[in-house]
Amino acid sequence: MEPHSPNRPPLLNPALPVEKAREAIADLVKELLEEAQKQTPLNFELTPLDQSINRILGSDLLSPIDVPAADNSAMDGYAFDGACLKDDGDLARLQIVGTAFAGKPFDKVVSSGQCVKIMTGALMPAGCDTVIPQELIIESSNNLATIEFEKKLLKAGDNRRLRGEDLQKGKAAVSAGRILRPSDLGLAASLGIKELPLRPQLKVAILSSGDELRPLGEPLSTGTIYDSNRYSLIGLLNRLNFKIIDCGIVRDDPASLKKAFCDAAKQADVLISSGGVSVGEADYTKQIMQELGDVGFWKIAMRPGRPMAFGTLKPVDGQANKKRTLFFGLPGNPVAVMVTFYQFVQSALLALNGASQTEPTLMQAIAEAPIRKKAGRTEFQRAILGRNKDGRPTVRLTGSQGAGILRSMSEANCFVILNHEQGNVAAGEWVDVALFEGLL
Ligand code: AMP
Ligand code: MG
Repeated sequence: MEPHSPNRPPLLNPALPVEKAREAIADLVKELLEEAQKQTPLNFELTPLDQSINRILGSDLLSPIDVPAADNSAMDGYAFDGACLKDDGDLARLQIVGTAFAGKPFDKVVSSGQCVKIMTGALMPAGCDTVIPQELIIESSNNLATIEFEKKLLKAGDNRRLRGEDLQKGKAAVSAGRILRPSDLGLAASLGIKELPLRPQLKVAILSSGDELRPLGEPLSTGTIYDSNRYSLIGLLNRLNFKIIDCGIVRDDPASLKKAFCDAAKQADVLISSGGVSVGEADYTKQIMQELGDVGFWKIAMRPGRPMAFGTLKPVDGQANKKRTLFFGLPGNPVAVMVTFYQFVQSALLALNGASQTEPTLMQAIAEAPIRKKAGRTEFQRAILGRNKDGRPTVRLTGSQGAGILRSMSEANCFVILNHEQGNVAAGEWVDVALFEGLL
C-alpha cells in the first residue's frame, strides 16, 4: 500500500475545512489499525470488574446464562393460571394456597381455582403464567383465604418475566469496543463474570515546545510563561484513560526536538506536541519531520486552532514494536490545544484503541444573544448551557473568546459549534452544542 501522505495541502493553500481534516485523520487511523493487525494479533488484558470502568472492551461479552434464568414475577401480587380469565363472569375468585418469595420458591403445582401470593422476582410456581398485582385485588375480599379481582384488568401472561427475556445464553451482553460504563460493570456482574478482556491502554506521549515555557515550581523571568498545555492534555488524556508518557518541555531547537520525538516514538503509540507549528516556527519542525516521518502541516479553517501538524513518525532504532507512531502537532495557544484535541485527536485515539463510539453527542440550544461568525471556517465558542423560562436549552458565550484565554474554557460547560458555511447567529436561533461532560 502507498504510504499515507498528509503533506497536502501545503501551508499556503486555502485553509482546509475541518471535515476534510477529520476525514484524512480517520483514513490514516484506519491504515494504522490495519497495519497493526497484520503485525500482531490482538491481545487483551483480563481485568477485574472493579478496575474496568472507562476501559475499552476487547471482545464481545457473551452471556453464559439466560437472563432471567427462569420465568418469574414482575410484580408483588398473586400468581395463577391465566386460562381462567376466559371463563364466564366478570370476577375471578381464587383460593390462596401458599407464598412464593424471591429466593424461596413455592414448590407445589398450582391447580385451576388456586393462586399463590408472590413477590417480585420470585419464580413462577408450576401451573401459573399470570400475576395479578396486589393493588388490583378487590379489598373487601382480601381475607386470608381467597382473592377476588375483575378479569378485564389483565390477560393471560401479564406481569410475568420470561426466561431469557433480557438476554439469551450465548448472545452478546456488551459488544466489543464499548467504553465501559457503570451499567456494563453491573451487567457483567449479573452474569457472574468477574474479569473482562480489555484493550491494552494506548500509550500517549506529550510534550510542550517553546523557549518561553517554564515548568511549574520555577520562577518566571521576563518573557517566560508557565507551561499549561501539558496539564490540560494530562487532564484530557486521563479522562479517556490512556497511559501518559510525559516528555516535558522541549526547547525550540532542532536537535532537542529531534531527540524528544525519537524518545517518544520509541515508547508511545501516539505523540502529541503543542506549540511550534505556526508559520515561522514550523519551518524547522517541518525539516525534522521530513527525516523522522511523514507529517503534513495544515492550515485549518477553524477558530481557534488554525495551524496543526499531523502524520506519522517512522519506527526508530531500539523501538520494540516496529510500528509507526501517530503524531499530532497541536497549536500552542492554550484554548486551541483543547479545541483541536476535542475535534481531531480524541476520536482518533479512541478509534486507534479499538473503541466503537468515538464521537461526542451533539445537541442543540437557543442562542441567548447574537453571535458574530465568519462564514468559511468552523468556530468553537465557549459557552454555558442553561434553560429559559419555557424549560428549553439555551447558551450564552463566556466572555472574551481569544485563543489564549483559558478562563473562557474553564468557565464554560460546552462548545457552541458554528459550522463552516454558517454566518452571524441571531438571538433566538438554534445552534449546535457539544457538552464538556455527559452522563455516562
Ligand atoms: P506557538 O504555536 O508556539 O506559536 O504558540 C502560540 C502561543 O501559545 C504563544 O503565545 C505561546 O507562548 C503559547 N504557548 C505555547 N505553548 C504553550 C504551553 N505549553 N503552555 C502555555 N502557553 C503556550
Ligand atoms: Mg512556540
